[in-house]
Amino acid sequence: MPLPLPYDESKEFWAGCQRHELLIERCKDCKTYRHPPIPVCPECQSWGKEWVKVRGKGKVEGFTIVTRALFPGLPVPYNVVREELEEQKGLLIIGNVIDCSPEEISVGMPVKVSFEDIISDRSLFYFKKVRFWHWFKFIAPDHADA
Ligand SMILES: [Zn+2]
Repeated sequence: MPLPLPYDESKEFWAGCQRHELLIERCKDCKTYRHPPIPVCPECQSWGKEWVKVRGKGKVEGFTIVTRALFPGLPVPYNVVREELEEQKGLLIIGNVIDCSPEEISVGMPVKVSFEDIISDRSLFYFKKVRFWHWFKFIAPDHADA
């Protein structure tokens, strides 16, 4: 399986994955989240930034199902999904939804981040479908974030 190679701007993100935390870069001045990480805030042009642990919950904003093998060791079919995180409208992250058939994936489907230790020093993030989320949120709104 091809693994991401952390670079200067993304090192903190991947270190967070290693600890099973989803970290998103945020402007230190105007508090706007941005992903992928970039040096300057697109809203206020500040160079100040901080890494914030987010809850990792959101919804599918768009997706594709890959059916043609592009990499050896990466069996098809698999999905590539763009999730909108709940912390901010338009805060998008691209990943895979696991434990879910291609037919189950739909725009607007609630998802939650999950992590998997691939090798000793590398963990990847995934998303999982939040099953029965609407029902659970209705009967137990104080516990729906679990
Ligand atoms: Zn800013």
